[in-house]
Amino acid sequence: MPGDLQDGRIVIVGASLAGLRAAETLREEGFTGSLTVVGDEPHPPYDRPPLSKQVLLGKASADTTALPMRRDTDADWRLGVAATGLDPLEKRVMLADGESLPFDRLLIATGTRARPWPNPEEASLDGVFTLRTSDEAGGLAERLAAGPGRVLVIGAGFTGSEIASACRERGIEVTVAERGPAPLVGALGGTLSKLAAVMHRNHGVDLRCGVTVTTLRGDGNGRFTGADLSDGSRVDADVCVVALGAVRNVEWLAESGLAAGPRGVACDAGCRAFNMYGIVTDDVFVAGDVSRFPHPLFGYQMLSLEHWGNAVAQAEVAAHNMVSPGPLRRPHLAVPTFWSTQFGLNIKSVGVPTYSDHVVIAQGSLEARRLAVVYGFQGRVTAAVTVDMAKSLDYYKHLIETAAPFPPPLGSADRAIAADITIPSDVPDPSGLSHGPTVALTGHLPDRRLTVVQPTG
Ligand SMILES: Cc1cc2nc3c(=O)[nH]c(=O)nc-3n(C[C@H](O)[C@H](O)[C@H](O)COP(=O)(O)OP(=O)(O)OC[C@H]3O[C@@H](n4cnc5c(N)ncnc54)[C@H](O)[C@@H]3O)c2cc1C
Repeated sequence: MPGDLQDGRIVIVGASLAGLRAAETLREEGFTGSLTVVGDEPHPPYDRPPLSKQVLLGKASADTTALPMRRDTDADWRLGVAATGLDPLEKRVMLADGESLPFDRLLIATGTRARPWPNPEEASLDGVFTLRTSDEAGGLAERLAAGPGRVLVIGAGFTGSEIASACRERGIEVTVAERGPAPLVGALGGTLSKLAAVMHRNHGVDLRCGVTVTTLRGDGNGRFTGADLSDGSRVDADVCVVALGAVRNVEWLAESGLAAGPRGVACDAGCRAFNMYGIVTDDVFVAGDVSRFPHPLFGYQMLSLEHWGNAVAQAEVAAHNMVSPGPLRRPHLAVPTFWSTQFGLNIKSVGVPTYSDHVVIAQGSLEARRLAVVYGFQGRVTAAVTVDMAKSLDYYKHLIETAAPFPPPLGSADRAIAADITIPSDVPDPSGLSHGPTVALTGHLPDRRLTVVQPTG
């Protein structure tokens, strides 16, 4: 391996899950040069999934979710300072404090932030929250602990649903307003969204679908007091959580000439960023929620994922490729996986459920609230979602990786297929939803069937 790739200056922008895992992998792969990690949050890398679960339930405080470090990264951690620009010719990252950092190779791992309420004045009312950072989670958890009369959650995607679930578990009244027809419909399609709606209502959530929130109201002292809905109704509440999905942190790349836009920074399967003309760069890499990358199993569509597992897997591939010459580089081919816990249910997903035209309930039933739903697109398996049945997920992952025919063959004895009747997957147009999708397909439709062979080593 050429010595120069193991040496030199690497800068990582984004000091969270992808940034940390990349820094660790660079050292594991033998990188001996200088490593700088820039993060605009003041905290060392921490985990976000507990923020909408254990932290809101009061079972952990927001400052206890630090990510474990797998090894010493021997890095210069520049925390609390944002990157404000990238000069790809001079190969420098500009920082908000006026400094600029030279690099030989750069990793962009700036993730996403919560989509804010569109009216800034209303968004600034005391009692209105978004949930992405540990500081935001800490503030919200404090309000929930104080026992508000009612919480209004705007958006019934994964984050909004988990917040509603935590509120109910704490005995707090909650109203959920969602523009789409049901919770989670943008991520999981029609069948499971019906179960999600039942779970909300059975747990006492005042679920309002097919409505939008038009105005957030405050008292004369700037405190949130409630909201007006598009159906003419009004919700009185003390706390409002805006859960409208995520915005990619790409503004700092506006003058960089990279293919950076609202759906993220486009890169190839080796995590190398594209420039605005679609030419792949060889010194700028991308990983995690901010990336947008092609996947052969999903018709080479560019995927934008907001998945913990993807951030880890892609960061490891990016780091490997940053210190490896061409022939030794690896593709990022991990099959997307995701989990959520809400209303006592454990929901796990593998593949891309929105990349589907039909589904089949392969195991269990909606009535039992324990089931596996398999998703197919043009006659092959593309995803599966289990509810309290996670043990089967590896089996379905294998079906996805091998482009198995859909509906899947009637299972072996331990995997009895509950039904072989396929029904439309009923994935709505994301523009009709309050919650942004955690998976976005942003490319052309597929016309080929492919099997992925995972390279070893
Ligand atoms: C409340 C919540 C619950 C979640 N639950 C789950 C779950 O159950 N399952 C699951 O699979 N996933 C879940 N996720 C998603 C998961 O946490 C993300 O996929 C993961 O955090 C992505 O990591 P990342 O490093 O790519 O991006 P991020 O974690 O978003 O980190 C990016 C970092 O870069 C920083 N940054 C941004 N711009 C700049 C700049 N210009 N200069 C310097 N720094 C910058 C950001 O402030 C941030 O610290 C959840 C997310 C949230 C918010």
